[in-house]
Amino acid sequence: PNLEPVFLNEVLERAFEIFSQQLKVRGIEVQWQTDPDLPPVMGNPSRLEQVIINLLINARDAIEERSDRTADGAPPRTITLVTARNTRTVTLSVGDTGAGVPAPIRSKIFEPFFTTKKVGKGTGLGLSISYSIVKECGGKIDVTENPGGGACFNLQFPIVKATS
Ligand code: ADP
Ligand code: MG
Repeated sequence: PNLEPVFLNEVLERAFEIFSQQLKVRGIEVQWQTDPDLPPVMGNPSRLEQVIINLLINARDAIEERSDRTADGAPPRTITLVTARNTRTVTLSVGDTGAGVPAPIRSKIFEPFFTTKKVGKGTGLGLSISYSIVKECGGKIDVTENPGGGACFNLQFPIVKATS
């Protein structure tokens, strides 16, 4: 469905632009670690922007829901945005300092309507829609643990082959 070469750093910046006020008012800091030489991937720019926004919403919610206090006071409120180039793929990840995804539900979170949020708070559709969008771009999405315990959502896309 309308795939074109997409520069993920630009998608990330547009999604962040839309969402930045949401983070600012909650005192959530964003750390950028983007590769300036990132090659394009095939995708639909507006749908990929929706994926990033879904991940940012979830990261925001996870940070907000984490209410424990450590010996040093409040836990950090940080979202880390990373892009990187590998030999055949480009990766993009959104990490947070929430409580993380408990191992027993890791296989369920990409299913439609799976949510751990209170009634009216979450539809359980964000990740399943994101999964479909990434898949239609020939990519993959998974979740790992952030150092410090939060969640890290990792997207991987094949690099567009140069046509000559
Ligand atoms: P919703 O956000 O409406 O609950 P999603 O499909 O976006 O639906 O996410 C499904 C579930 O995955 C969430 O309810 C939550 O349990 C878990 N989840 C998603 N993102 C995170 C995250 N960043 N940290 C911890 N848990 C997460
Ligand atoms: Mg969500």
